[in-house]
Amino acid sequence: MKDTCNASLLRQLPQVEEVLHESALTNLKGVSRTIVVNAVRNEIEKRRKAILDGDEADTGAASIAQAAAARTRALTTPSLKRIINATGVIIHTNLGRSALAPEAIEAVKDVIVGYSSLEYDTQHMARGSRHDHCEPLICALTGAEAAIAVNNNAAAVMMVLSVFAAGHETVVSRGEQVEIGGSFRIPDIMQQSGTHMVEVGMTNKTYLRDYEEALTDDTVMLFKAHPSNYLMTGFAELVSISELRSLADAHEAKTGNHVLIYEDQGSGAFLELSAFGNSAEPTVAQSLAAGADLVSFSGDKLLGGPQAGIIAGRADLIARLKASPLARVLRLDKMTLAALEATLRIYLDPDQALQRIPTVRMLVEDPECVRKRACALHDAIQTRIGSGKATLEVIPEISRAGGGALPMRDIGTHALQMRFIVGNAQDCWQFLAQSCPVSIVARIHEESVLFDARTILSKEEINVISLGVALYFDQLATSEGL
Ligand SMILES: *Cc1c(COP(=O)(O)O)cnc(C)c1O
Repeated sequence: MKDTCNASLLRQLPQVEEVLHESALTNLKGVSRTIVVNAVRNEIEKRRKAILDGDEADTGAASIAQAAAARTRALTTPSLKRIINATGVIIHTNLGRSALAPEAIEAVKDVIVGYSSLEYDTQHMARGSRHDHCEPLICALTGAEAAIAVNNNAAAVMMVLSVFAAGHETVVSRGEQVEIGGSFRIPDIMQQSGTHMVEVGMTNKTYLRDYEEALTDDTVMLFKAHPSNYLMTGFAELVSISELRSLADAHEAKTGNHVLIYEDQGSGAFLELSAFGNSAEPTVAQSLAAGADLVSFSGDKLLGGPQAGIIAGRADLIARLKASPLARVLRLDKMTLAALEATLRIYLDPDQALQRIPTVRMLVEDPECVRKRACALHDAIQTRIGSGKATLEVIPEISRAGGGALPMRDIGTHALQMRFIVGNAQDCWQFLAQSCPVSIVARIHEESVLFDARTILSKEEINVISLGVALYFDQLATSEGL
């Protein structure tokens, strides 16, 4: 019986041409016919298989057209796209961390429209190295003898541990056994690298003598990790780089064993931004000057550049990293190198860095300037929506650095608060992210939507947000048949 049912269902499956005439597909605008035809074939084939497997598939042309239209839309709509960040979290990992400086954007464009000097040295008409583009700048900015940039800081940590400490002992404080988020835990990365982790001290207190007692003939590294978004205060103590330096030097004088000091700095500040107050991060230069042999940090956190991991320090050690097979595995592409080089160059003049690198500018921008932007957003929205839909008010609020940087720092800001007379906060918040031409991610607070002006980048973004809010109330009116 089953077989005959299958046969009649199979016969009911429509021809491709018939499905193409369905309104679900004729309504699709600006999509190539080839893509639509393929989607229809695909869907018919899927249902044929289902029927052959004994399932009751819908053989209607309208149903097939709908599924094909959904598939076409999913395939032809960009997934990775621009977003307007109105959350006030400056280094927002889920939103791509750092917006690039105009110079960095230009540099990327310049190297991708054609060929580039990625590994070609036009001075000597010979093969060059991709490491040559950023290294002199990193050295000039940090005082390091040498440097290498790789895919991200997690890769940098992995590389340093693998190259210098695999099969030997690395000493790390229990106070720095942190999880940075997204499955990056110090003990896990140590295990993956093949080093033997030797934990010292207590969660809250580690003294120099704890490191001293842990040193053996097999110790090759003292590792410090910046605790990032986790901050210990009160009855807590960690050992400084300069103390570790003295210990390593004394150990070498006594035993002849050389022990490396490596700090994973996480955010990696270049500027001593006094505006950050006493919770300021140590700079890369300070750690190197204090005696770290190697320091690594992210390219897209406090630095405000592209995703990258930078390792800076002793020339002999960096040379070994460059020669490692991992340098090839973790290497940066030309777009990232172009953006990183251009970003680093801006730091040569710290005043320029404060003005031109969006992440740095947002971190130090005066709350009064932020308030002006919040007011401009207020006016733009008010003009578009008129009265009777929502009440708008500019209020003082707190922004966060994000990205594990400056966790305790409250950054005073101003936000536009929108309370609803028609519609509601949850709906509007979702509409702005899901249904606007450019997605807008705002904050939701009690029964209101908050737009933190600190992370809103331009007049154009203000305009787009006001348009999005107006669209929200328009579709509300349409859906209620007003
Ligand atoms: C963020 C962070 C990392 C990881 O850096 P990515 O560039 O995101 O790979 C590693 N260590 C610390 C201390 C961090 O803060």
